[in-house]
Amino acid sequence: MTEVDLDPPCPGCGQKVPTTARYPRPYCRACVARAVDVNGDRITLTNANLLGGFVAHVLGTDDPEGPVVSPATETGEVFIDGRPCRAAEHRFGGIVVQPLGDPEVGRGH
Ligand SMILES: [Zn+2]
Repeated sequence: MTEVDLDPPCPGCGQKVPTTARYPRPYCRACVARAVDVNGDRITLTNANLLGGFVAHVLGTDDPEGPVVSPATETGEVFIDGRPCRAAEHRFGGIVVQPLGDPEVGRGH
């Protein structure tokens, strides 16, 4: 028998993160808060609306038109500590970010 670790360490800081088989390698909230987009801009990831989807906004802009939408909204491509990651809408709400190239990510697909 293989013991299944239901709370794998966050790939960014090693803190245990509640997870599911669908999202085997999520970053914790603190690490997701450090995410930047392809331009190196700090971003926030939020659900687009109650029906799902997500939107990435660039932090630290004072645009009177409102928050600047990051290209990560379209691509899901974000970087945490320089590591390329994929952001996606979580099945049960919220946003999940997982590192690209992690052997645990993509299993079961
Ligand atoms: Zn973390």
